[in-house]
Amino acid sequence: MATENGYYGDYGGMFIPEILVPAFEEIKEQFQAIQQDDSFWQQYCTLLAGYSGRPTPLTYADRLTEYFGRAQIYIKREDLNHTGAHKLNNALGQALLAKKMGKTRVIAETGAGQHGVATATAAAKLGLSATIYMGREDMERQYANVFWMKRLGAEVVAVDYGSQTLKDAINETLRDWVSSFETTHYILGTASGAHPFPAIVSYFQSVIGIEAREQILRAADRLPARVYACVGGGSNALGVFQAFYTDEDVTLIGVEAGGQGKESGRHASRIAYGEGKPGVAQGYKTLFLQNNDGQMNDTFSIAAGLDYVGVSPILADLAQRGRVQFSAATDTEVIEALKIVMKTEGLIPALESTHAFAGAFQDIAESSKTDIIMINMSGRGDKDIFNIAEGLNDEEWKAFIHRKNRQFETQSR
Ligand SMILES: *Cc1c(COP(=O)(O)O)cnc(C)c1O
Repeated sequence: MATENGYYGDYGGMFIPEILVPAFEEIKEQFQAIQQDDSFWQQYCTLLAGYSGRPTPLTYADRLTEYFGRAQIYIKREDLNHTGAHKLNNALGQALLAKKMGKTRVIAETGAGQHGVATATAAAKLGLSATIYMGREDMERQYANVFWMKRLGAEVVAVDYGSQTLKDAINETLRDWVSSFETTHYILGTASGAHPFPAIVSYFQSVIGIEAREQILRAADRLPARVYACVGGGSNALGVFQAFYTDEDVTLIGVEAGGQGKESGRHASRIAYGEGKPGVAQGYKTLFLQNNDGQMNDTFSIAAGLDYVGVSPILADLAQRGRVQFSAATDTEVIEALKIVMKTEGLIPALESTHAFAGAFQDIAESSKTDIIMINMSGRGDKDIFNIAEGLNDEEWKAFIHRKNRQFETQSR
């Protein structure tokens, strides 16, 4: 629980421009109101059940379990949500909140585009108009998501300044909000940013852990020894972890993007590699990857959704208090883990989610056969076909892309 001004231990808070204070006050008040209103949570769960396919299953990974001959592995299947990841939970929840506040429009920042697609989807379903801000550079890299956002009826605004990536998109979304908050709600995409966003996002994502805890008790009649989740901003991890906070025997492990490894400096690990330093940016205080002058570092990962310089203040605090442990998986480990999961279970985890698998595999030799481990599969990987094919260095795929390209060129001549 946050303090009144939004601190989790040393981290969090609200560092916002004066002009946005009324917007944040309104959201704080409404968020408090919905938390005390069971009918709102019911409405949310009904929407998720009928539209997004919840509850998502908990799959016993018998072939993966057999492959390692160690712990019994269970997988929480957030990939089976509509749009293929946990992000829609938050987007639908906040879109409902927006309607409750009488707003007619939503805005969002997006890096890799997945939160943009989730927001555009939720806006379409609930009849809200949507504007999504995305760095020009990110739009180039993730054009498929831009295509879908537009088809879903959202306006996509390219952000042309700075590094033309997520942090510039965040600034631009806030700039929009300054002049639009009377009619507009800002759907922030992860459990970061100024208070109360970390609390709101983890509240809506808590469905993951509520379901998973019940499901494992039903399936195995006991709790897992360890729960793994990948950590970008922290929303899927907090979503599953929070159900187990008071179960002291359950070890919670967040897996960050190790990129090309600690020594390379090309990674996005703020906590596991011990390189994030406390700082204030983007409206809140947390551990940021920054240089000695407080300039944000560039981050790298094969998984676009884990490529973030900050981390949820809630996780920074849980790490400091030792309740959540952190590890990092490198791009190479992730590709290896992905191959194993595809062949043994017939599942294609998103590259982000594959970090959770890779983190679990790092520890598996130390497990006993009776241990249960739970892996939160935050999303599905078919969206990553370009990156996965590249990561696997698949020659036949490259040849296919060349052929397609030639076909387009001939058609447009
Ligand atoms: C966006 C994304 C993530 C990272 O975001 P969190 O807020 O850390 O959960 C992880 N997995 C998938 C599939 C994503 O789309």
